[in-house]
Amino acid sequence: MSSLLDALYTQADEFIAIRRDIHSEPEMAFEEHRTSELVASALASYGYEVHRGLGGTGVVGQLKRGDGTKRVGLRADMDALPILEANSFGYASKRRGFMHACGHDGHTAMLLAAAKYIAKSARFSGTLNLIFQPAEEGAGGAKRMMDEGLFERFPCDAVFAIHNMPGHTQGTFHLRPGATMASSANVTIMLKGVGGHGALPHHARDVVVAASSTVMALQTVIARGIDPQKTGVVTVGAIHAGTANNVIPQEATLLLSVRALDADTSAVIEARIREVVESQAKSFGCTATIDYQHNYPVLVNTEAEARFAYEVARDLVGPDKAVWNAPAITASEDFAYMLEKLPGCYLFIGNGDGQSPGACMVHNPSYNFNDDNIAVGSAFWVALVQRYLN
Ligand SMILES: [Zn+2]
Ligand SMILES: [Zn+2]
Repeated sequence: MSSLLDALYTQADEFIAIRRDIHSEPEMAFEEHRTSELVASALASYGYEVHRGLGGTGVVGQLKRGDGTKRVGLRADMDALPILEANSFGYASKRRGFMHACGHDGHTAMLLAAAKYIAKSARFSGTLNLIFQPAEEGAGGAKRMMDEGLFERFPCDAVFAIHNMPGHTQGTFHLRPGATMASSANVTIMLKGVGGHGALPHHARDVVVAASSTVMALQTVIARGIDPQKTGVVTVGAIHAGTANNVIPQEATLLLSVRALDADTSAVIEARIREVVESQAKSFGCTATIDYQHNYPVLVNTEAEARFAYEVARDLVGPDKAVWNAPAITASEDFAYMLEKLPGCYLFIGNGDGQSPGACMVHNPSYNFNDDNIAVGSAFWVALVQRYLN
């Protein structure tokens, strides 16, 4: 084990306690007041210049050392999810119905652990910007911090972020150059027909049948519409229509989640969804309105920064525990906005596999961040800063 890892294991207990404290008090998007306060006061106590209020609850801690001109940004997310926690350990959520089920408590604690060690012991020359963002889970906290001047006030030459990943061995690193996380779009489809008596369907235009057929036809958007070498997902996550056995309703609503790993595929999927929905509705004598909301863009790691992050991980934990060219994932992540603006890399740290408790998938009510990653993840951050700002 490297001496750096040893050093971060030595101070880990303090940050495991912080992680568990944050876990017990989960806060939703843009409401991370307590977490934000905790982060800001910790950073100030380590000697960082602390800036609050970007993106509401966002915090930036800045540390300059030496006369180096390079600037690097490290990002952690702080928000929780509206999930009822199933865990019964002592630090389980005290806020019923809300839970740190994605490990953002752990990401925050890892970056704070690195922050303390860097301020005290790291050798570097340049500017370090630690970015603690609100609202990663769908509400675009990264974008809001950027809209409010994040990189104008705190310029960075590159940005990096880590997310834990259940299913991979604890403490292993996984990353790839290029597209790593998918774009996402939320699509609402409203079908309008003619309501009527369930016994007299010939007097109605039945939106339930139109909606059912549309759901099935949408299954061909990926299978028949896009290049088999490309990646896309169309999921119909909700279907709402009707209230009674004997009433044909007037309206039906479908809610879709759409993902793609490149912008061209995303555009093809959108065009096909519009064609399929409109023609399906028409074939049943119904009409369709489509509200197509593009959310997070594709997350694209730049080649040089991905290679750099890989080498940092490999030199820290060894080549057996650092995976280059790991598969892309069709979930989405708002760090994509930062990578649209700056070079950088988003990578994964294994949360546990097999029968280990860390193997429980994120967003599951039994999920928990693996505290063994506090030391490994923070050691990675320290090593990255020392090498980038040398
Ligand atoms: Zn999540
Ligand atoms: Zn997450």
